[in-house]
Amino acid sequence: MFDTLILGAEVLLPEGLFRVNVGLRDGVVAVVLPAGEDADARERIEAVGLTLLPGAIDTHVHVRAPGFAERGTVETETRAAAAGGVTTILEMPVTIPTTISVEQLRLRREHFAARSLVNFGLYAGLGGLDGAAACALKEAGALAFKIFTTGVPPGREAEFEGLACPSEGGQYRALEAAKAAGLPLVVHCENAGLLSLFGERSVEADKSSAAFMELSRPAICEAVAVAKLAVMNAEIGAKLHIAHVTSARTVDVLRRFAGLCDLTAEVCPQSLYANDADVDRVGVYGKTIPPIRGAADQVALWNALAEGIITQVATDHAPFDAIEKAASAENFAAAPAGVPGLEVLVPAMLDAVAQGRLTLAEAWRLVSASPAQRFGLTDRKGKIAVGCDADLILVDRAAVTEIRGDKLETQARGAARLYEGMRFQGQVKRTIVGGKTVYLNGAITGEAGDGAFVGPE
Ligand SMILES: [Zn+2]
Repeated sequence: MFDTLILGAEVLLPEGLFRVNVGLRDGVVAVVLPAGEDADARERIEAVGLTLLPGAIDTHVHVRAPGFAERGTVETETRAAAAGGVTTILEMPVTIPTTISVEQLRLRREHFAARSLVNFGLYAGLGGLDGAAACALKEAGALAFKIFTTGVPPGREAEFEGLACPSEGGQYRALEAAKAAGLPLVVHCENAGLLSLFGERSVEADKSSAAFMELSRPAICEAVAVAKLAVMNAEIGAKLHIAHVTSARTVDVLRRFAGLCDLTAEVCPQSLYANDADVDRVGVYGKTIPPIRGAADQVALWNALAEGIITQVATDHAPFDAIEKAASAENFAAAPAGVPGLEVLVPAMLDAVAQGRLTLAEAWRLVSASPAQRFGLTDRKGKIAVGCDADLILVDRAAVTEIRGDKLETQARGAARLYEGMRFQGQVKRTIVGGKTVYLNGAITGEAGDGAFVGPE
């Protein structure tokens, strides 16, 4: 007797796409049966015409809780994850207070455990900490570490406490500490020295124009930061992961430095599906840091996925209140950076498959298998196999998802203008977290607390 039996779907197994029936019990995949072979189950899900996939694992999510309830709460943003087919999020430590101590990590974990609809892992900041402190954070449940190579954005000092490592010395030390704990170090890469040079040079530039982003934060800032880290990591050997790669120049660095050290990288949907012309169109609602770049960069990023130079797609889901964005609508220098992406990732990847850019197996390696592997979850997540967590999604590859702000679950729906009206071939029909359906055909069915904490193995 199974808890749930999913019948008639085409199922993405590690070996390929097969028409099989999948039985779930006690929150894990209990059996994979040949098509036509039935079994007893309390819940039967008829899924003919649908595709069963491992849920997406988004390793770059900002929830903002508990510090900024107006931007997003654990409930609102994990509802967005559920609706988007994202069954596990890794939450960034950028909020008030930042997650940089064992005590903060414990409080954060408790806060999420009571509220999250999807599984969650937690980052810790590593700025200024040593190997012993990194090991203590791991012991307390941190799944990975985050630093920025930039200074603190003016006015957001408290949100970035323990996260900014603008000096090479600080970055080297963070790599050493991450290495000691054996956890990935994820780095926001923009070289601080070059940022101040281009900041000075663009001081008189028109800040109401999207072009200000490229003038003040050109791709060279990103590429230099990545190159320096890679060289340092060749000596240290930490699990170095580059967040949100945006440019052809950085892809070039990654290509040349592949094999030099343990180095992986992610790209965000907004850098694949939008370019500077879209930012021109939507204004500060398309502001990200590093910026969304030109059409040639877009092509380079798609090619980097096909070549395996970039191994993950993650959202950098960054909710902001529409009022906050509107307050600096004419000022790219002052506007908060970030776009919400949790409800875009899976439809966007299904669309990439429909357009023939990637195979389904390649696309799901990017959003599920590869993140599971990089963040040490491969025994439990990232694939549909007996014994793995029942974190699954049923999608309709023939249906279209049209992104409409008023239909989004994220609290940042009012600021989600970059994707407004975009249509993706492919739609999430059902999201299952630990065996329980938390989203079904447009409605949230999960509850706060359905998601499980995901710690290091
Ligand atoms: Zn981020």
